[in-house]
Amino acid sequence: MRTRALLLVLSVTSLGTDPALAQRTRSAVDAIRAQRRELREALRAELEKTALFCEERDLPEAAEAIRRSLDEDDSEDGRIALRPLPKSVQPPIPPSLPDDERLWRSRVRRARTEHAGRLYLLARKAMRERSPSLAYALLQEVTEFDPDHESTRRLLGWVRSGNEWITPFARSMMVKRYVWHDRFGWLRRTHVEKYERGERYYGGKWISAEREADIRHDFRNAWEVETAHYRVRTNHSLEEGVRIARALELYHGFFKQVFAGFFTDPEQQAALFDGASRRRSRVDPPKHTVHFFRTKGDYVAALRDRFPQIEITNGLYQSGDRIAYFFHDPAGENLPTIFHEATHQLFYESDSRPREVGLDAHFWIVEGIACYMESFTRTDGKLTIGDPEYIRFDNARYRLLESMDYEPFARFSALGMREFQYGGREDLGKRYSQASGLSHFLMHYDGGRYRDALVAHLASLYSPTSRRVRTIPELTGVTPAELDRQYAEHLRAQKQALAARTD
Ligand SMILES: [Zn+2]
Repeated sequence: MRTRALLLVLSVTSLGTDPALAQRTRSAVDAIRAQRRELREALRAELEKTALFCEERDLPEAAEAIRRSLDEDDSEDGRIALRPLPKSVQPPIPPSLPDDERLWRSRVRRARTEHAGRLYLLARKAMRERSPSLAYALLQEVTEFDPDHESTRRLLGWVRSGNEWITPFARSMMVKRYVWHDRFGWLRRTHVEKYERGERYYGGKWISAEREADIRHDFRNAWEVETAHYRVRTNHSLEEGVRIARALELYHGFFKQVFAGFFTDPEQQAALFDGASRRRSRVDPPKHTVHFFRTKGDYVAALRDRFPQIEITNGLYQSGDRIAYFFHDPAGENLPTIFHEATHQLFYESDSRPREVGLDAHFWIVEGIACYMESFTRTDGKLTIGDPEYIRFDNARYRLLESMDYEPFARFSALGMREFQYGGREDLGKRYSQASGLSHFLMHYDGGRYRDALVAHLASLYSPTSRRVRTIPELTGVTPAELDRQYAEHLRAQKQALAARTD
C-alpha cells in the first residue's frame, strides 16, 4: 500500500510539472523554426543577386537554374523524407570554365555552404532545447546545401577516405583488401573476377556456383552476408542476401536519424553536436542478425518447435535469441514485413540486457511503431516514411471515421502485452489498425509537435533501468481526452488531403 501511495504522488507531481516544460520546449522549437525561415529568405536574397548578375551577363538559363534551386517543395505532405547522401565528395569548380560561369558557380556554392554552416548552428540549438527530431531534420538540410559538411557527416556516422564518404566498417574492410560488389557483397579483391565468371569459394577451394547453391540450400551451410550493421544468413542465394542486407542498411541509416533521441540522452546528444565528446565511431558495433529462409516451408520447419503458431506469421523477431526471421514470399512484398521486424529488433537491441517491454501497459506502441515503419519506401530518390496512403493508415482511418471503432487512448494505452494480443483476428486487426493510426498521429500531428515526446516514451519503455514509464500525456502535457479529439481531427484532415490529391 505504501509503495502504491508513493507512486501516485510521484505521477501527480510529474503531471504538474511537465506540461510547463513541454510548453517551454514548444515555444523554443517554434522560435528555431522561425529562424530557419529567416535564414532561407536571406539565402534566397543572396542567390537572387547572383541570378541578376547572370542576367546582366546574358546567361538566362543559369539565372533560372539558380532561382529554381530554392523552389524545391520542402513540405512533408504527411511523410518524413530523407535523401540518401552522395558517396563522393563534391568536385572543385573547374578552373577551365569561362570566367563568368566560374564566378557565378563559386558564388552559389559559397552561399550554400555558408547557409549550411548557419543551419548547423541552429541544429545545435535545437539539440540544446531537447528537440532531437528538429535537430536531425536540420542536419539533413545541412547536407542538402553542403553534402561535405564535416561535423554533420561525422554525426551521421561517416568517415572520409580520399574523395569518398564511407562507413568505418567499409574502411576496415578496404584495409583488409576487400571490395564491395553490388551483387555479391564484400569480396576479396582477388576473388571478384572469378565470382563474375560463376566460380565460388567454399571451404577453402573453388567450386561452381551451382555446386555451392546445392550445399547452401541446407540452412546449416547458409550464405552469410555481413555489412556495417547486419549479419544476414540465408539459404536463398548470395544475391538475395546482399539485396536484403542493403535494404536493411538503408533502413538502419534512416531509422537512426528519425529515432536519434532514443539512442542517446539529450545531454549526450548536445555534447556530440558541440564536438565536446568526440564519440569514436565504433568499427565493430554488435551486428543485428537476420535469418532469411528460401521458402515458407523452411521457415516453419526451423521454428515450429519453439512457436507452434508459426504457420500464421510471415516474420518474427525473437528477443530471446535476438534474431529476426523471414522467408522469401514469391507472391508478396517482403520488405514491409522486414522493416516491421527490423524495427522491433533495433529498439530491443539498443541494450544488451534482457527485459520485458510493455508487459503490463503501453504495449500498443511496440506494435504501432513497427507497423508505422512498414511504410518505409524509396521513391524518386527519396526515402520516406508515413505515407498516409499506406494500407495500415488507411485501415486506421476507416475504423475510426467509417465504422466508429475506437478505444479511447486512456484505455488503449493501459493494455499490456497479453491483453493487446488477446482475441481473434478481428480483435487483433482493430488494435493493430488503431496502434498504426495513433503512431502516425504522434509522429506527424501539427508539424510533428509530439514526435520527441513519442521517442522519449519509447526510450523509457525500452529502458532496462527506468523504474516508471514516462507516458505520452505526461510528456506532451496533453490529456488523454484531448489526444482522442486531436487524433480524430488528424485523421479527418488526412482524409480530406487524400481526397484533394486524387481530384
Ligand atoms: Zn510486431
